[in-house]
Amino acid sequence: MITLKEALKLSKEELNKFKEDLKIQIEKNPELNAYIDVNNVGDGVPIAIKDNIQVKDWAVTSGSNILQGYIAPYNATVIEKMTDAGLSPFGRTNMDEFAMGSTTESSFYGKTLNPHNSECVPGGSSGGSAAAVGAGLAIAALGSDTGGSIRQPAAFCGIVGMKPTYGRVSRYGLGAYASSLDQIGPMTQNVEDAAILYDIISGSDDKDSTNAKRDEKVCENLNADRKLRIAILPHYIKDAGVDVKNAYAKAIDALKAEGHTIIEKEMMDAKFDISAYYITATAEATTNLARYDGIRYGNRAEGKNLQETFIKTRSEGFGDEVKRRIMLGNFVLSSGYYEAYYVKAQKTRHIIKDNYDKIFEDVDLILSPITAGTAPKFGELKNPIDMYLSDIYSISVNLAGLPALSLPISKSDNAMPVGLQLIAKAYDEQTLFDGALSLERSINYKGN
Ligand code: GLN
Repeated sequence: MITLKEALKLSKEELNKFKEDLKIQIEKNPELNAYIDVNNVGDGVPIAIKDNIQVKDWAVTSGSNILQGYIAPYNATVIEKMTDAGLSPFGRTNMDEFAMGSTTESSFYGKTLNPHNSECVPGGSSGGSAAAVGAGLAIAALGSDTGGSIRQPAAFCGIVGMKPTYGRVSRYGLGAYASSLDQIGPMTQNVEDAAILYDIISGSDDKDSTNAKRDEKVCENLNADRKLRIAILPHYIKDAGVDVKNAYAKAIDALKAEGHTIIEKEMMDAKFDISAYYITATAEATTNLARYDGIRYGNRAEGKNLQETFIKTRSEGFGDEVKRRIMLGNFVLSSGYYEAYYVKAQKTRHIIKDNYDKIFEDVDLILSPITAGTAPKFGELKNPIDMYLSDIYSISVNLAGLPALSLPISKSDNAMPVGLQLIAKAYDEQTLFDGALSLERSINYKGN
């Protein structure tokens, strides 16, 4: 597959031909189920779009039954920025319902397969975007990351996934899951393409009150030769599997070979991240999903009266995982439990951020696992708690609002990709991309 950098040099005629061929390839591979459908807007470079990002006149459903029939009346800001830069939304990718999940198994459209092994999950919730890029059926894609949903499927599918600093990329037009954690970001074949797509979609937007209104770009200053101070976390990786531990050791050697200084640091126990995240995310999701009532958007199950219509629509429209989270979110916000759970989770969130701030007093970047192992088999994470626990390495970054990038490092014995992530200070995407480019060069994943 050509890279985004190469595709940006093609003429309109070449791109149109390329897109016709790409559509045929996608339609030849229906069992992968990375795409829900393949629509196109304009004659720019095709970028696959996760099904929770509004593209005007497209069906956009967040992978849910409750949004069947909804047609987006406007473009998300990222789509406007993309089309201004000569890119075209091309194809809607599969995802866990309302981005709640780590495997893409909870989609209304059925599961997406991992392109490296069809018995394994592609990760989630942006599993369709990751599988499309990993299978060579997309040049690049957009995903959204609330607790790892860009970086984790990227790692499972052997591609690059980047979550920007909270506020860097407008959330206007992104179907909200947990508003204080959600960010849209690029999923690409390599680090340079991620930087190109990041530059295009990031920046000021008056339509999102949490937008940071910062417009610095990274591509013009990309420099893989900068020598950085990079933290490693020997204690923190104790819960990772052997494949991840091996990849971690390999990445440390690669970073040393590039002339970076490696410094040992400690992160607090990841078990606190899980509790703080699943309380915060479900509380916010409960509020955000209250708008799906059968009146304003998409699907409606008629009842005898308004209340019955609400109840029937929501009972039939939402899947089990979404219902579980709505109930959990209502519980942690209810009087009597609010102080015990929600307020405590916010305090824990501060402690996690302080922990990162302390580490960043001495270093430019942190090297961390993004997953504990390679992609699990379908059905392996049957118990919801097991699935929540599988997020140990991804969610603290969202709780602290930091930018992070996951990239492929090695293959396991059974030939599955193993990724790791680099984490930077808030708004220091430049250093994140510089370091990632250096690590990618030194590892040479594709050449091995
Ligand atoms: N797996 C996490 C969850 O289910 C993260 C999802 C995401 O980042 N959207 O909440």
